[in-house]
Amino acid sequence: MDYGMIGKIEKAKLYAAEPERVTFNTLTAEFRGDNSSYLLHLTPEGWSCNCPGFATIGLCPHIMAMEKILKPMLKRVPEQYHRGQNVVSDVEKAMRYAEETDRVSFRSFEVTFRGDNDTHITAYTEGAWSCGCTFFQSRGVCCHTMALERILKGMIESSEQPVG
Ligand SMILES: [Zn+2]
Ligand SMILES: [Zn+2]
Repeated sequence: MDYGMIGKIEKAKLYAAEPERVTFNTLTAEFRGDNSSYLLHLTPEGWSCNCPGFATIGLCPHIMAMEKILKPMLKRVPEQYHRGQNVVSDVEKAMRYAEETDRVSFRSFEVTFRGDNDTHITAYTEGAWSCGCTFFQSRGVCCHTMALERILKGMIESSEQPVG
């Protein structure tokens, strides 16, 4: 029996129930809208999206939906109304999109993960994980990566099931 690993799996379950431990610092995700897919970015400077709506008014339903989906994990003030925005249609769309998380596919992200003892930086890039904790250095997996896999289920490639 791998007691070290069993302990981490248990811890990952507890952490996954407390998503507010996670803070997204950066992310790149594909967002499948009703008609086309777009690439969303979050950087320390803020959000961007390559959809036409963002290009004209600087905000779009994709970003608004992402803010709802990741709510406890974004320690940022949500975007406010932007001049020229069709608020009614954008809010309706964002609410609907936020219920359909399979529209989101993360390409990469970096989060700060507040554990019981220490805070770590955990990152994901195209299916590959990294974490600053010591367990990850020796095992290539840890309670932080496993907790994030649970929290973001369906929005990232699962490590158990290679996508083919
Ligand atoms: Zn957009
Ligand atoms: Zn870790």
